[in-house]
Amino acid sequence: MSENGIRLAGVIGSPIAHSRSPQLHGYWLRKLGIRGHYIPMDVAPEDLVEVVRALPKAGFVGVNITIPHKERVLEVADLISDRATLIGAANTLIFRKDGKIHADNTDGYGFLENLRQQAPGWEASAGPALVLGAGGAARAVVCALLDAGAPRVILTNRTRVRAEQIQADFGQRVEVVDWVQAGNAVEEVATLVNTTSLGMTGQPELRVPLDGLRPGTVVNDLVYAPLQTRLLQVAEEMGAVPVDGLGMLLHQAVPGFERWFGMRPEVDEAVRAAILR
Ligand code: NAP
Repeated sequence: MSENGIRLAGVIGSPIAHSRSPQLHGYWLRKLGIRGHYIPMDVAPEDLVEVVRALPKAGFVGVNITIPHKERVLEVADLISDRATLIGAANTLIFRKDGKIHADNTDGYGFLENLRQQAPGWEASAGPALVLGAGGAARAVVCALLDAGAPRVILTNRTRVRAEQIQADFGQRVEVVDWVQAGNAVEEVATLVNTTSLGMTGQPELRVPLDGLRPGTVVNDLVYAPLQTRLLQVAEEMGAVPVDGLGMLLHQAVPGFERWFGMRPEVDEAVRAAILR
């Protein structure tokens, strides 16, 4: 904390201009009447370690970490949570009073809370899950689904070897299928999650065949720009339960905010509307 009692936090990435986190944390700080600031910081990979080490001395209580630093930042941490270790990446740093840097990964928490909020009654244990993609977000999603009791996670990725690496890290409840076979798995799952960047503004559409989708299957797109992706539109038309990706972004921010600023913020319609404005 700085001398004047104002707590500082922020987000480090490169580029960082597109990040919605400053808007989100700024909204909560104002709403809760907390004396604090949340600052976006564009930091080059070669400067990451030096910048992170200097921040506590400048009054920072912690930071979020985003692309491309989520894996590399583990090098600076003195303590790494189990889930960040398993995922191999951190998105939240807490600068402790004893000088130690604690790294955590709250993406999986945000993913689960979003599903629980937007698809009430959803349970990971209801049946197998199909996860499309095997990047950083997929690792957090697979970890969360297994933790929450999914009996099996069927994983598919354009580059199969990345999916196989996740299977090697997370064990036999993860089953890898070829990207071109993904459509065949759709009918047996209770949960379907797109963790690829397909469907995002400026990216190609996701073309996995959804003919087998069962009514009631919970379909979550991590893409939140646009909010209503083609995947979610098709899911809705077929009687599935569409869940957009914005809520994950909002929920993953809660644990960091609470640790840094001492109050737990709400994820409600008002904050969604504020971020969408
Ligand atoms: P990443 O590590 O770069 O992974 C990208 C994934 O997309 C990989 O599986 C990649 O497959 C796949 N992909 C990209 N282009 C493709 C194409 N043309 N055809 C097939 N697959 C393709 O990125 P990430 O950090 O995991 O993020 C992935 C997405 O999740 C992004 O859209 C991001 O915005 C979103 N996300 C949302 C939240 C949220 O809070 N809602 C949080 C985290 C991430 P290959 O391995 O074959 O390249």
